[in-house]
Amino acid sequence: MSTELTTLTISEALAGLGKKDFTSVELTQAHINAMAGARNLNAYVVETPEIAMKQAKESDERRAAGNAGALDGIPLAVKDLFCTNGVQTTAGSHILEGFVPHYESTVSQKLFDDGIVMLGKVNMDEFAMGSANTTSYYGNVINPWRRNNGSNAELVPGGSSGGSSAAVAARIAMGATGTDTGGSIRQPAAFTGICGIKPTYGRCSRWGIVAFASSLDQAGAFGRTIEDTALLLKSMCGFDPKDSTSANLEVPDWPSLFSQDIKGMKIGIPKEYRVDGMPEEIEQLWQQGIDWMKDAGAEIVDVSLPHTKYALPTYYIIAPAECSSNLARYDGVRYGQRVEGKDLVEMYENTRAVGFGEEVRRRIMIGTYVLSAGYYDAYYIKAQKVRRLILEDFEKAYEQCDALLTPTAPSAAFAIGENADDPIKMYLNDVFTVPASLAGLPGMSVPAGVDKDGLPLGLQIIGRRWDEETVFKVGHAIEKAANFKAMPQSLEKEAA
Ligand code: GLN
Repeated sequence: MSTELTTLTISEALAGLGKKDFTSVELTQAHINAMAGARNLNAYVVETPEIAMKQAKESDERRAAGNAGALDGIPLAVKDLFCTNGVQTTAGSHILEGFVPHYESTVSQKLFDDGIVMLGKVNMDEFAMGSANTTSYYGNVINPWRRNNGSNAELVPGGSSGGSSAAVAARIAMGATGTDTGGSIRQPAAFTGICGIKPTYGRCSRWGIVAFASSLDQAGAFGRTIEDTALLLKSMCGFDPKDSTSANLEVPDWPSLFSQDIKGMKIGIPKEYRVDGMPEEIEQLWQQGIDWMKDAGAEIVDVSLPHTKYALPTYYIIAPAECSSNLARYDGVRYGQRVEGKDLVEMYENTRAVGFGEEVRRRIMIGTYVLSAGYYDAYYIKAQKVRRLILEDFEKAYEQCDALLTPTAPSAAFAIGENADDPIKMYLNDVFTVPASLAGLPGMSVPAGVDKDGLPLGLQIIGRRWDEETVFKVGHAIEKAANFKAMPQSLEKEAA
């Protein structure tokens, strides 16, 4: 029974709860048991079983009284970048170890208002900087998938939301929150065979989310189906006066819209995304996606995004610049760790030297460099101008099409440590996800196939600003055509 409950989708679980087939207490207990059996993945930084069981009980009472919310009783994982009232929030960093917020992020509050159960806080790259979840102070996360070629190497779950993606793929959470600054929802979703959406910048409030790069950071959702992802995202989005970049717009009812067909829709294929050295398998998957679109009655349009090649360098100027400013607040005075020194300045230096890991220090150094007098115009201002051109590329493309279809990442999940010695190689992981982030556009990854070693691969849909609806519809068309049923090997064994 308990294994069965963890294999349900959110929509199936909501139906089961509604019919009284099982209670939220049973559903939650099944997940708590599964979490205990999957600790080797290191997906959770903190498990919160007492909170979860209390919330589950309250949920069952609400349901019995006829007051159930849209997601009532559904056990989820929360990325450790969202401040959670009374529960440690670390952002994957040593410097925030022991930091217990006394407020709740708007996004997690919205989920609680709809009745969710929090299983715990999930692991992530330190301050969301990374693509492999290997920069976390709390250790790397292990992808539940393995290559089927007998190598048995432990693989990365993607990053920075690697705890979220691993937890959902391993059935130790029914869904999860994530954040995406340059690809941190879409790439881990692709690496673990699940769906992940980053909505338009401004859809989700950033209030109470530990900031990395404020003009890029956006919360979003992981689910095992498009419908689940739409249910979660709907709950998370909405205007928040506490975030000045939050959009005062109605949130569409995506869960009732996603399954409409895409006949007559125009799908753009950006030629600049055929990057050098892209593996044959990714190329084939993309072609397969194009064929699925045609079969579903959509029209394929070739489009050009000429500034694509500048997206990565632009991102790796703007994101570090913003992070160097945002992370200035961790000084040993207000949050988490403090390492004393002989005077105030030495206390700052000692705290930051001990508190920040290597990748975070690298980003702060790059950021302060590109913002310093003399280099500001040459790097930062230039990057802002190029960012504008990248946005205009998309706007021009959307005169010809309704959404873009691309691969999500240039490879399947790689082994832990594989790209560790070369930061640039690691940054290349984001080549397909970063442009949409710079332009603030909604993007989603949908599992679409497996590579020669049986590892999942994702296709990305990028939509117009505020048009998550089209992204969900195209995603659903891919989901139907791909009929992706592969599962991590450890779960297959269990299911057999
Ligand atoms: N991998 C990218 C980076 O390291 C993106 C991270 C993210 O989206 N948070 O900056």
